[in-house]
Amino acid sequence: MIYWQNGLFLLQGRLALDVTRRQPVGFISHAHADHIAPHELAMCTPATAKFYRHRRGQHRAVQELTFGHSITFSGLQLTTYPAGHILGSAMLLADDGHQRMLYTGDFKLGESATAEVATLPTADILVLECTFGDPKYRLPPREEVLGELLQTVTRCFEDGKTPVIYAYVLGKAQEVTRILTQAGIPVQQHPEIFVMSQLYEESGCPLGNYALYDGVVRPGHVLVVPPASQKRAAQLTGVTRPFKIAVTGWALRSDCRHWLRVDAAFPVSDHADFDELLQAVEQVSPQQVFCTHGPASFAEILRERGVRAENLNPALARKSSV
Ligand SMILES: [Zn+2]
Repeated sequence: MIYWQNGLFLLQGRLALDVTRRQPVGFISHAHADHIAPHELAMCTPATAKFYRHRRGQHRAVQELTFGHSITFSGLQLTTYPAGHILGSAMLLADDGHQRMLYTGDFKLGESATAEVATLPTADILVLECTFGDPKYRLPPREEVLGELLQTVTRCFEDGKTPVIYAYVLGKAQEVTRILTQAGIPVQQHPEIFVMSQLYEESGCPLGNYALYDGVVRPGHVLVVPPASQKRAAQLTGVTRPFKIAVTGWALRSDCRHWLRVDAAFPVSDHADFDELLQAVEQVSPQQVFCTHGPASFAEILRERGVRAENLNPALARKSSV
């Protein structure tokens, strides 16, 4: 049903799944840079189509897949389900009448301020994104972390400091913005984030009281900028006494503050943590799991729990297809 050829494909119709080289037809689970390519025809949700075209050209051909509505493609029934990762992010269920294969793409269970809540159908084959597939990556309760984040921001204002939050341009920045504006704290955004936020609003996801950061920080505003790793970190002009904050699942790493060169780090992730990965496997109830994007040891952890699991790349490259 699926095979690996320097990327994952559905056997029928040779549909590429998040393959990062141009293909005749490619499913795009979400528009993060490591999941897209300028395909001849892209299949994705309407929100992802907006981000994809913004990133790869407005003229790109797209077949939009609305959540929960099946289409027929090369004898397969294809259905998207919310992945809970960023707005519009989707899992793909492919059904050939005999077997069902669920490809999660990047996903997260539970609450998000901006992404649709993930829905997990059952499937025979599960291709699982396992970024946090290690028991050391267990996220603390979300409400607790968000409470601490808001307290830190408030304390910054009281101390005459400017809170500067580093967040990925697409997804995390909008989620952090909405969390802050819902708490009554206005936000200013780096231009690259601002343009994505406008696409969020066009897609029906309001972000509250936010404005463009044009080099001047307004009193009582939080500045949201891309992380230095994205090489587009804002030149922090006009920022008085910046207090640098990272909002990332990697905050679970003890060296995170030093590594990211920030004053504080809060573990809010748009990826499933270790327990959510186990929960996903239980809910999908597959006969075979292929793990991707995480530590190789996670497949072994699943096997110890009686689940037939292998790492995607070597397993499928060896067998050619399953
Ligand atoms: Zn992603």
